[in-house]
Amino acid sequence: MGSDGWPVSGRPAEEVLARMDAYRRHDADWRRGRTFSLVYHADQGVADLARRAYEMFMAENALSPVAFPSLRRFEADVVRMTADLLGGGPDVAGTMTSGGSESILLAVKTARDWGRAERGVFDPEMVLPVTAHPAFLKAAHYFGVRAVVVPVGRDLRADVEAVRRAVSPRTVLIVGSAPAYPHGVVDPIEDMARVAAQRGTLFHTDACLGGFLLPFLQRLGRPIPPFGLDVPGVTSVSADVHKYGYAAKGASVILYRDAALRRHQFFACTDWPGGLYGSPGLLGTRPGGAIAAAWAVMNHLGEEGYLRLARRVIETADRFRDGIEAIPGMRILGDPPGSVMAFTFERGDVYRLGDEMERRGWHLDRQQLPPSLHLMLTPAHERVVDDFLRDLREAADEVERAGDEGVSGMAAIYGMAAALPERGEVRDLILDFLGQLLDGGGGD
Ligand SMILES: *Cc1c(COP(=O)(O)O)cnc(C)c1O
Repeated sequence: MGSDGWPVSGRPAEEVLARMDAYRRHDADWRRGRTFSLVYHADQGVADLARRAYEMFMAENALSPVAFPSLRRFEADVVRMTADLLGGGPDVAGTMTSGGSESILLAVKTARDWGRAERGVFDPEMVLPVTAHPAFLKAAHYFGVRAVVVPVGRDLRADVEAVRRAVSPRTVLIVGSAPAYPHGVVDPIEDMARVAAQRGTLFHTDACLGGFLLPFLQRLGRPIPPFGLDVPGVTSVSADVHKYGYAAKGASVILYRDAALRRHQFFACTDWPGGLYGSPGLLGTRPGGAIAAAWAVMNHLGEEGYLRLARRVIETADRFRDGIEAIPGMRILGDPPGSVMAFTFERGDVYRLGDEMERRGWHLDRQQLPPSLHLMLTPAHERVVDDFLRDLREAADEVERAGDEGVSGMAAIYGMAAALPERGEVRDLILDFLGQLLDGGGGD
């Protein structure tokens, strides 16, 4: 791929745009429903509205809560609407953030500072299932909170007894997911939050993925267990508007049971020559476009719009699930109630199956522990179910025929990672690979 330096004299706008268009030639083809992560697409009308709203407020900066009352209004409305969706009463307080990771980082930082102030804990711990999103471990890494990782049960949901045993006097936060990304299953939030309440710790539900989908599936009569702020013991919830909220990238919401808890999230600097400085989240400058687009899409779709989309998503997910389970040797892991799922393959190497699907133009994320392929379904996948299942059947037969000769592609990388005895070596592999990619290597 390489990278180019500065052009000495600038290029005309049209030429710049044409080059950019050429560079996207090999990008993941999400518009045709060929990818199963990263992009959440409702329809062209929603995407156009998000783009127009984003453009309208592209220059505005939500760093200052004073300069742009419009953005303040949008943010307050988005937070309120999200709270209404997730069981929040009148006391609930929140902020918008740049994404799920920022929401999670802030929930952990809030718990750390709450633990210091309210419980005198200076060497804090948090308890989380192994399926919790890596953003929690990133938060542990950034903020000096010890992560106590517990296993999940046979159903791949958090093991409540393991959680209970892992809690110590230093625990400031317990985490559960609705759903967890790897297998799409919802943790037993009610039981976990009860442990938190009994032990006097905070509890965060990570609904980054499900926050804008599960409540609508509930209304459609699907068996979704309670997970929101109406569950006793749940003290914060994160939900990404840029996932099943179908907003522009850069929009998530973090909610707390009340404003006193949220206050631990904030930062203030009193002695800077540049003035008195207060900031709600991790970012300084906050892009107005992302906030405006979230508001626009939520108002445009309304509850009925989200309900309609949720119905399409779940019906599509049902077809994928039934079709996959009908293929010999394939199995959905756990019992995911929504649109995110993973499947294994017993007639051959599941990573090779992933590579075979790649050759047929389908990009599926690979997972480990156990090896599986991942699906995140949106309305964009409605039209591809039959093509996908046909290719999947063919790819499965192909992998079974080939046995284990000539492994390449992602199967080789995951094979190598599995063969390394030390997780530290795998870590080095990832860090080196990341560096190479960012320096312009990889791809073509
Ligand atoms: C996507 C996701 C996150 C992180 O969100 P980003 O927007 O990618 O930072 C956290 N938790 C779950 C369950 C997710 O699916």
